[in-house]
Amino acid sequence: MVRLNEIRTGEVAITPPEGRDAGLTYIGRIRTPWTDRLACPRQGRADGPSCRIEVFEPWIAALDGLGEFARIEVLYWLDASRRDLVRQSPANDGTTRGTFALRSPVRPNPIGTSIVTLIAIEGGILTVRGLDCLDGTPLLDLKPDRSLFTPIAPPQLGDYETGA
Ligand code: SAM
Repeated sequence: MVRLNEIRTGEVAITPPEGRDAGLTYIGRIRTPWTDRLACPRQGRADGPSCRIEVFEPWIAALDGLGEFARIEVLYWLDASRRDLVRQSPANDGTTRGTFALRSPVRPNPIGTSIVTLIAIEGGILTVRGLDCLDGTPLLDLKPDRSLFTPIAPPQLGDYETGA
């Protein structure tokens, strides 16, 4: 079950520390068919509906070259999430796990990521398939899927030596 704001049996909430330091910039907004968390898929699917990512100015120039990738990684801010649970019960059955052992949207910094299929880019609008977020979710970043990405410089002998 998808949570709204309840605390379930065995779950542990904390009072988050004061002060937040990451000055995140919303670079766009994601348009999906889902307006209700209960209806939203838990993970995106390759055969899910096509969704629209609207990139704001002045970031549209940063899309140059992204169209060469068939799959891209989308990072977004799950803005309707609570942020104070350290143990959670996704199944609401009394069994709990630590937040960092889950892909739940409830986390101290509610960043969601999905690998999506890129269908088209026109100006600042991307059409993609494979998302799982609510309509209007703020966009944080876009990157080529790491499995398709060839680093600019090939690895050199010694790159991975630790010196230990
Ligand atoms: N694929 C991402 C990941 O693994 O990082 C997100 C997975 S999370 C389980 C997806 C769920 O987050 C959706 O089913 C929905 O219940 C919830 N959700 C989607 N958009 C949200 C938003 N803007 N704010 C809060 N919760 C959201």
